[in-house]
Amino acid sequence: KKEVIVIGAGLAGSEAAYQLAEKGIKVKLYEMRPKVSTEAHKTEKFGELVCSNSLGGDHLGNASGLMKEELRMMNSLLVKIADETKVPAGQALAVDREGFSNRITETLENHENIEIIREELTEIPKDQIVLIASGPLTSEKLSNEIMKITDSEYLYFYDAAAPIVTLESLDMEKVYFQSRYNKGEGEYINCPMNKEEYETFFEALINGERAPLKKFEEEKLFEACMPVERIAQRGFKTLLFGPLKPKGLVNPRTEREDYAVVQLRQDDKDGKLYNLVGFQTNLKWGEQKRIFSMIPGLENAEFVRYGVMHRNTFINSTKLLTPALNLKNNKNIYFAGQITGGEGYVCAMATGMMAATNIARSLDGKEPIILDDRSSIGAIIKYITEEKKNFQPMGANFGVIRSLEERIKDKKLKYNKVSEIALSYLKEELEKANF
Ligand code: FAD
Repeated sequence: KKEVIVIGAGLAGSEAAYQLAEKGIKVKLYEMRPKVSTEAHKTEKFGELVCSNSLGGDHLGNASGLMKEELRMMNSLLVKIADETKVPAGQALAVDREGFSNRITETLENHENIEIIREELTEIPKDQIVLIASGPLTSEKLSNEIMKITDSEYLYFYDAAAPIVTLESLDMEKVYFQSRYNKGEGEYINCPMNKEEYETFFEALINGERAPLKKFEEEKLFEACMPVERIAQRGFKTLLFGPLKPKGLVNPRTEREDYAVVQLRQDDKDGKLYNLVGFQTNLKWGEQKRIFSMIPGLENAEFVRYGVMHRNTFINSTKLLTPALNLKNNKNIYFAGQITGGEGYVCAMATGMMAATNIARSLDGKEPIILDDRSSIGAIIKYITEEKKNFQPMGANFGVIRSLEERIKDKKLKYNKVSEIALSYLKEELEKANF
């Protein structure tokens, strides 16, 4: 009997349940809402968008746009419904959030191969194929179960993350490579500031608009990681003894220490991405772009990820998962969605799609489809399942997609070319696999 248990009818679980059901596989879909809810969900609907109603860029010059196009090629239900319920949002794909989740709910409720069970699943069923898609706000009991099967040290709850920028978007004339006191492994990129630049930055930072915090976030956050704008608020010079400390860094252009220095740390193996050290923040995304672009060298920085502060649950996929998205030590248990460390709405759909595809293939005795980093979906799955230190969630971005062999200066042309390669690569792979 072909039956799969899917835990969580969020973005990943809904996409996965539909894909499995369409292939004739019986799905038991567990969703704990409305009996038990999370801190962020407000309804009992499937595929609820917990925050913004935007699914990101909708053109091929954008990695999330590319990922959505790849998902369209794979007959994604959620992207199809997003297209049907879209609202005007310039170059982004934003949806009428109620219409979006209503249609997902109706489609799954009316599918003959899907049985919906409105219960909190607290134990992972044994000897069955299970897809865990319980999201960043996985219930506590299930989190404990996941800890048991994965080793507790590999279940992360992080509250804060700093923004990440691409190396190629930095102004290398202004920044320099160096480690503090020339110690330690690897070099940081340093963005030096004089007093006037610091003053302007400081003013913008303390006055920047912040995202509202939920009560649980307010309580938990500040014990561990203080947002950079709150540190700044303590006093004009506080940052100079914290994240903007200039001590031990000698600017090679002036051979002197600067008034303040922002450090960037390499974030990926290939050295294409850098995070802003100590810049966990609760500023709104638009404000992050405006204010952090005042940092010398970051004037035209491309932010592949903004800083976020909220509860998050994710496993250390780099150690635990195969690229088919199942556990290395228990091939029957698959993961999809934010819990894999693939960040954001569209990545949740994409990992849901790939986990379901590979479950269906394993039930048919076929090899999994493992896409490589030529595609946006493949690049993220590779990123989250490849060994690395200090693994943090990552969303769709061109920094993780394979670079072109030729050099194209114009960014728009370059990214369109990368996307063109991605789509023809995916088409070929799907044809080869008889998708
Ligand atoms: P979810 O969509 O959360 O789905 C998981 C489902 O599992 C939920 O329906 C939940 O009720 C259910 N569940 C949990 N435990 C159990 C259990 N034990 N038994 C049964 N059901 C269970 N991403 C963006 O792209 N844009 C944003 O603006 C954005 N804002 C966010 C704001 C917050 C506060 C958070 C926490 C995350 C945000 N994200 C955002 C990140 C992420 O993309 C979303 O959380 C996304 O919904 C993840 O999809 P998912 O399918 O992994 O999880």
